[in-house]
Amino acid sequence: MSWKENVRKVVPYVAGEQPQNKNVIKLNTNENPYPPAPNVKDVLCGFDYASLRKYPDPDVSRLVSALAKRHGLPEEQVFVGIGSDDVLAMSFLTFFHSDKPILFPDITYSFYDVWAKLYEIPYECQPLDENFRIRKSDYKKENGGIVIANPNAPTGVCEGPSFFEEIVKANPDSVVIVDEAYVDFGGESCVPLIDKYENLLVVQTFSKSRALAGLRIGYAMGSKKLIKYLNDVKFSFNSYTMNTVTIEAGVASVENEEYFRHITAKIMETRENTKKRLAELGFVFQDSKTNFIFASHKRVPAQELFDVLRQNEIYVRHWNRPRIENYLRISIGTDEEMKTVLDFLEHYLKGK
Ligand code: PMP
Repeated sequence: MSWKENVRKVVPYVAGEQPQNKNVIKLNTNENPYPPAPNVKDVLCGFDYASLRKYPDPDVSRLVSALAKRHGLPEEQVFVGIGSDDVLAMSFLTFFHSDKPILFPDITYSFYDVWAKLYEIPYECQPLDENFRIRKSDYKKENGGIVIANPNAPTGVCEGPSFFEEIVKANPDSVVIVDEAYVDFGGESCVPLIDKYENLLVVQTFSKSRALAGLRIGYAMGSKKLIKYLNDVKFSFNSYTMNTVTIEAGVASVENEEYFRHITAKIMETRENTKKRLAELGFVFQDSKTNFIFASHKRVPAQELFDVLRQNEIYVRHWNRPRIENYLRISIGTDEEMKTVLDFLEHYLKGK
C-alpha cells in the first residue's frame, strides 16, 4: 500500500486571476474599484508594529463588538473569520454533519461543492429556472442543510427576505445559510430574521462593499446557539484566525458608515448606467443587485468576447460550464473603466 492511498484528494476551487500587469482593467473578481475608507489608512500608517510580538485577541472582541453595534445585535450573535470563505468553510464543517444531502443551486458560488467534497458532505444541486431564479419548492424536501447566495453569484439575481423566511420555516431541522457577499449593493438582508429563526445563519464580507478584499474579513450573524457552535469548531481548528493589523483596520472600516454608503451608492449608480449601455449593445442579462452584471450577447459568443477583451487588457470572468458558457460576469469598476470597456465593446461589435 502506498502512502498516496491515505491522502485526502481534492480538486481545488479556482479563484479569478490576479494579473501582475498594472495596466489591466480588472473586472474579473468583483473587487471594489475604490480604496478602503480613509480612516483604515490612518490605522495602518499609525500601527504600533511592536505590538505584533504578541498573539492577537483570539475572541477578536473589538471587531465583533463593532459589527454587533453596526447590525444592532448582541456580541454573542456575531462570528468573524478570514474572509467569508473561511466563515463559510467553518460553517460547512460545523453545521453540515448529516448523512442527508445539503442543497444549493446548480448555478452558484463554485466553492460550495468544493467544500462539500472536501468534508465529504453529500450534496444535491437544485436547478435554477430558465430566468436563473431559485425555485422555493426545491428546498422543501429532506436535506442535511441549505446554502444559498443572495444575491446569487454569478447570476446577480436577488430575492427578498420573505422568500428565505419561507425556506427557513420549511426546514426547522436544518441550518440554512444565506451568503450575502453582495447584499450591500441594493439587496435586502435576511439579518432581521435571525432572531425569529434559530437555524438561520447570514454571512457577509468586507471584500466587496468595504473595498477590503486584501485584508480578508468575513462574518456570520445568527442565533447565540449557532454562533457558539461555530466558535467551538473554530477554537478546535485555529485559535488565532484574525491577525492584529486586520482586526484594527476592520474596526476602522465599520466605524466609517458614511464612506461605506458613499462608495456603495457610487457603484450602484455606475452599474445602472452600465446596464443601459450593455442593453443598447445587444447584451441580455437578469437585473443585478450586485457589483457585477452577468451578461450574454445576442449574437457574439461569450468565449470570443472574453478572448478579445483579454487580448486588450480587459479581464472579465467566463466559465465553460453547462447553462452559463455563453455568459460573461463583468464586475463594476469606476465610471472611467466602464467607459473604456463599453467603448471597446461598441467598436468591436460594430463589425459583427
Ligand atoms: N460568497 C460569494 C457568493 C462570493 O462570490 C465570494 C467571493 N469570491 C465569497 C463568498 C468569498 O468572499 P471573501 O472570502 O473574500 O469574503
